[in-house]
Amino acid sequence: MPDCIFCKIRDGQVPARIVHRDEHCLAIEDINPQAPTHLLVIPLEHIPTMNDLTEAHRELVGHLHLTAAKLARQRGIADRGYRLVFNTWRDAGQTVFHIHLHLLGGRPMEWPPG
Ligand code: C5P
Repeated sequence: MPDCIFCKIRDGQVPARIVHRDEHCLAIEDINPQAPTHLLVIPLEHIPTMNDLTEAHRELVGHLHLTAAKLARQRGIADRGYRLVFNTWRDAGQTVFHIHLHLLGGRPMEWPPG
């Protein structure tokens, strides 16, 4: 997608702090972190929102979560706890329309979220 910021990061056209890359996804440091650890796990495939997932994405969605859990262990926050979030559409405040799994941790968090 030519105007998608995460496609541009994937393709090396926009800089980002990439902390993980494999054949299905990459992970970057969020540019505006909301917690001491705030990573985004982003599929290489351009999928605008969670509403666009199909059965063909079943393994990919699992892979994104497993990658996030691995990164949480690497960052030393797995035992304390962390939050995984896919914001979807307006009410959830989605701003980048290429799905991404937020990995937030390193501080206590409240529930329900704002
Ligand atoms: O879930 P939502 O779409 O709101 O999240 C987008 C996230 O992407 C934000 O947390 C924003 O800080 C991050 N971002 C980034 N690098 C960019 C553009 C956005 O880390 N170049």
